[in-house]
Amino acid sequence: MHGVIMTNLQVFFTDRQTRPDYNMLDKLEHVFNELGLRDSIKDGEKVMIKTHFGLYGNTNYIRPAYVRKLVDLVRAAGGFPFVSDTASFAYGGGRPYGGRTTAPEYLERAALNGFTQGVLGAPIVIADGYWGIDTFNVDIDGEHIQSVPVAAASLDCDKIILLTHAKFHHMGIAASIKNMGVGMVGKRGKAAVHCPDGLQVSQEKCKGAECSECVSVCPVRCIEVSDTVKIDWDRCVTCGHCASICSNKVGAKAIFMSWSGQDMALRVVENALGVIKSIGPDRFYYINLAIDISDHCDCICVGAPLVMHDIGILGSSDLLAIDHATMHAMKGVALNAESSVDQSQFESLAERSEAIFEHGRKIGLGTTDYDLVKLSREKPEG
Ligand code: SF4
Ligand code: SF4
Repeated sequence: MHGVIMTNLQVFFTDRQTRPDYNMLDKLEHVFNELGLRDSIKDGEKVMIKTHFGLYGNTNYIRPAYVRKLVDLVRAAGGFPFVSDTASFAYGGGRPYGGRTTAPEYLERAALNGFTQGVLGAPIVIADGYWGIDTFNVDIDGEHIQSVPVAAASLDCDKIILLTHAKFHHMGIAASIKNMGVGMVGKRGKAAVHCPDGLQVSQEKCKGAECSECVSVCPVRCIEVSDTVKIDWDRCVTCGHCASICSNKVGAKAIFMSWSGQDMALRVVENALGVIKSIGPDRFYYINLAIDISDHCDCICVGAPLVMHDIGILGSSDLLAIDHATMHAMKGVALNAESSVDQSQFESLAERSEAIFEHGRKIGLGTTDYDLVKLSREKPEG
């Protein structure tokens, strides 16, 4: 197994208290420096900053100023930064493919949320290409997944910094592990997480050649429609475009994908292992912004009420350690009165998060044996 077992591993933590001389961007810089990034980034190194631009309509996503700060820090250290995310599954509705499904759709929506090259000071790259299928396969020995389609841009990186909004999802904590296990794989990897049974076809429901809506959205042109639909399964990359358009626009459901939450979190963990294996664990760094903590992902177009008050910023070189430390910091905080999550629901989310950590330990994703180092800075005199 390709684990990340280290001795004296540290997770750095800075709380949400701020002063004019030590605001949240200063604190982000403090974490960056403690992670050793200022010294370890060599001149000209290609550094991906992997974040999530949020679905338009969600107002809890990471503010662009945090990403810009990280870009400036990478550049000051001598690196060549670019900012990245992957295309999403097709959800139907809204834009032609759903809003974040192709690179141009997502870039347009990212701009509405404030993420442009002008604001960020670095190029924005959709890491798995126009259709979200530009990937390379990494084999793993998982219980659920044996091959992970990692976003191709990762291959060309000297370092990858995941700048992640820590929040919740029905599977438990949604932070760095999810940003990697869902956010750094192509559509086939997203399908493996959400729809493990893959694409299914009911030929008798197909409206035939007069419809043919699915043909033009297939990025590998492996669909033929005459009296009914036929798919060349050897060429299909399980992008889900055909299922989305057949179900959401045509309303025929001749091609469909069944969503399943069963073991979803464990499949995310296994996908993450494939991503780490792609360029090796030593090139990854993780920063969790535990602020604006809701119980919804940033890929839902809802700025859900916040579950608790802001906690701060955490940083580590270990994927499991950072999410474990973040979850445990959250456990010590009272829930907001207006939160849609009550105490017993929160405890259930915490329990599901422990299952993520347990599976991560089991497959060698990282460690939960670490020292938590609290960062602070003396107030200047005068
Ligand atoms: S979109 Fe659906 S109904 Fe239309 S041709 Fe394709 S499979 Fe048939
Ligand atoms: S058949 Fe459907 S799922 Fe397969 S590649 Fe074509 S559009 Fe994507």
